[in-house]
Amino acid sequence: MRLELTQSCRKIMSMGLLSLSVLNSGCSDSADADDIARGGMCTPGDVLLSPTPEAPAAACSVPPSPFSSLIEAGGTARAATTEQRRAELLDPSRITVVTCGTGSPFPSERAQSCLAVFVNGKFLLFDAGDRAQNSIENLNLPVTDIESIFLTHFHSDHIADLGEVISRSWILGRTRPIEIYGGPEVEQVVNGFNLVYSADEAYRIAHHGEGVFPEPLAAAAVPIERPGPEGKVVYESDGVRVLAYSVDHSPIGTALGYRVEYAGKAVAVSGDTVDTPGLRALAANADVFVSEVMNKSAVEDMECAFGRITDVRLEKIFADIRSYHIDLPELARLANDADVTTLVITHLVPTPLNAAQGDVFFTQPASTIFGGTLVLAEDGTEVVILL
Ligand SMILES: [Zn+2]
Ligand SMILES: [Zn+2]
Repeated sequence: MRLELTQSCRKIMSMGLLSLSVLNSGCSDSADADDIARGGMCTPGDVLLSPTPEAPAAACSVPPSPFSSLIEAGGTARAATTEQRRAELLDPSRITVVTCGTGSPFPSERAQSCLAVFVNGKFLLFDAGDRAQNSIENLNLPVTDIESIFLTHFHSDHIADLGEVISRSWILGRTRPIEIYGGPEVEQVVNGFNLVYSADEAYRIAHHGEGVFPEPLAAAAVPIERPGPEGKVVYESDGVRVLAYSVDHSPIGTALGYRVEYAGKAVAVSGDTVDTPGLRALAANADVFVSEVMNKSAVEDMECAFGRITDVRLEKIFADIRSYHIDLPELARLANDADVTTLVITHLVPTPLNAAQGDVFFTQPASTIFGGTLVLAEDGTEVVILL
């Protein structure tokens, strides 16, 4: 059912008419709704960005067409599906972990780093690399419910889509402020995105009125000083705790991993790091440990290949990157030592191009070491902890 709806949305998007998901009101984002209006499908008065109570009633004078029927059917069905999905993910009797981005800095079909954790009715997001927002919407995650975003560090593959997450959640009807946690540079990063999107915010408010946007677009930065070896509680609300741990991604100054705790369960998030005491502390007895991973022998193979074709730049890069990521066997041993129940491997380097490569590069070698449940993450993989 969801696949059909997604394909339907993609079909509409490919027509260049909508860049937003079809909402239950039928029309969408301002600029795209204007496109529709120019095509005679709706009038600007029909534009609803979210089901706000004060929104005007539809006033289309154009009779239904095959296209508008598609909008109505898709919008109504999607609204029902979205609400069902939202209720499921925000169900306080379960913790749901969704890998919304599993790629690395290297180009691939995968979105870059993005992890959604739904716990006790809260939507917490960890990192927002390139295409994270598109992935969040394709997976029908309740974007307007995002409460807090935790950044592990500020490499572009972890923050490239942060502006879009902030902006799109606001456009789609976010009713709460977003707080963004990270190392000391988080203020610079968040304030930069806020500045970049400030003109867009002004345009949309001028066009639609403040009533359509209950919250300011801008997010708030929450800097985290380097945690000690025991970790530091950085978030606490309704029984949910998030602790930050120092990991080692040198020369990155403050690289963080996080641990979400609720009702005696724990979800650990590695960030980018080598094997380090902080990583072992955050992973200890985790029910789910989501970790970056590199197959260093494969990357060394690539380094040598680039050397043989005299691409010295890539040869150097593939040598350098092995110094600040964790090797697959190291990670598998660490997860064993830490008594991790389920190990989810993501940020895969090299990026497997198909299932066979994923098996050879990651699943097979890790399975010979790690005795728990191993999950090779794809974009959209979900792991549920029942409470
Ligand atoms: Zn990094
Ligand atoms: Zn990275």
